[in-house]
Amino acid sequence: MAGISLRDIRKTFRDTPVLHGVSLDIADGEFLTLVGPSGCGKTTLLRIIAGLETQDAGDVFIGQTMVDDLPPKARDVAMVFQSYALYPYMTVAQNIGLPLEMRRLSMLQRLPGVGRLVPGTRTARAAIDTDVKVVAEGLGIGHLLARRPAQLSGGQRQRVALARAMVRRPKAFLMDEPLSNLDAKMRVQARTEISELHRSLGSTFVYVTHDQAEAMTMSDRVAVMMGGHLLQIAPPQVIYDDPQDLAVATFIGTPEINTLPGRVGNDGRVEVAGQSSPIQVAAAPGTEVTVAIRPEALMLATPASASEIAIGGTIRHVEMLGAETLLHVIAGSVTKPLVARVEPSVGARLKMGGPITLVAQADRLLVFGKDGKRIAQ
Ligand code: ATP
Repeated sequence: MAGISLRDIRKTFRDTPVLHGVSLDIADGEFLTLVGPSGCGKTTLLRIIAGLETQDAGDVFIGQTMVDDLPPKARDVAMVFQSYALYPYMTVAQNIGLPLEMRRLSMLQRLPGVGRLVPGTRTARAAIDTDVKVVAEGLGIGHLLARRPAQLSGGQRQRVALARAMVRRPKAFLMDEPLSNLDAKMRVQARTEISELHRSLGSTFVYVTHDQAEAMTMSDRVAVMMGGHLLQIAPPQVIYDDPQDLAVATFIGTPEINTLPGRVGNDGRVEVAGQSSPIQVAAAPGTEVTVAIRPEALMLATPASASEIAIGGTIRHVEMLGAETLLHVIAGSVTKPLVARVEPSVGARLKMGGPITLVAQADRLLVFGKDGKRIAQ
């Protein structure tokens, strides 16, 4: 087992910079997820850790060792790919055992008399078979060892790929969107299984996804990447409740966080929806800001909420989702409808096109400057 450290990693493909100096410390045994929109550089960063891509500048450490000059197989990390990369003509057992078989062959090559019967070979084979069986049974695919990948479901293939990564007990697992070929239901189940696997192995996991739900549910910490920069690294709930960047606030959370234009008043308080909020910020009066609020912090007005920020509007759509209802509300000059998450019983009483007053919980308002950075409150 080992932690992973990245120091100022830079990479340019042809003339396009893809990573702009990424530094990151991943603790031994941590589950860290790199999340961000397509093309932000997540896969490139993971491939650099694995040694499948070479950085232009910066260093990678696995454990205490700088691995910049080590080839992938000497880094002792296992990569699980989106495509699973299984060999179609091999059985499940052969696919899983492949890393051990390769290690056995490379050891044999170092012995004199290659090609002849080498003492101990049979024992090594038997040991591989045992290891393959133990790992496969642990993942619930012990009964599939004789099949070929084409005879498996997507979920079973994904487990074979995991088993192949696990069989040589690497220091760390690097996973690149390993669930993206599964249907929605299988994906939710596989999330739980990967979390359990992480807990039982206790190894370092670096997981790449563009699916924020995956990132939020499995990780100890989430690293949000955009345009080749790491914007924020924090536990999932902190990323959700306390984003330090508007791009992070917008990327994480479904439905998307609501945003409203605001400005800093003469008394230093943020004015939003034509009202002065209790929020005092460290910015000059007159500064234009963006005020963001999560859908569950927007509620229907009640007499008790008089002191909160009230936002009048028209109901555009009532979206009943069973466990919750989303109200889409057109409010004043805000071009994008605001979304409030309310109890289904509340939603059932409301009519499309009707007037509504929402209140924003003042202590849940997040204030961002023109550069997208959070302004201290
Ligand atoms: P996705 O979620 O779509 O896989 P990503 O965040 O993993 O995206 P990368 O695959 O790291 O992004 O790619 C980052 C950028 O680098 C993209 O613009 C991509 O087109 C470019 N890129 C990646 N690999 C190469 C390559 N070998 N040659 C040229 N450009 C590349």
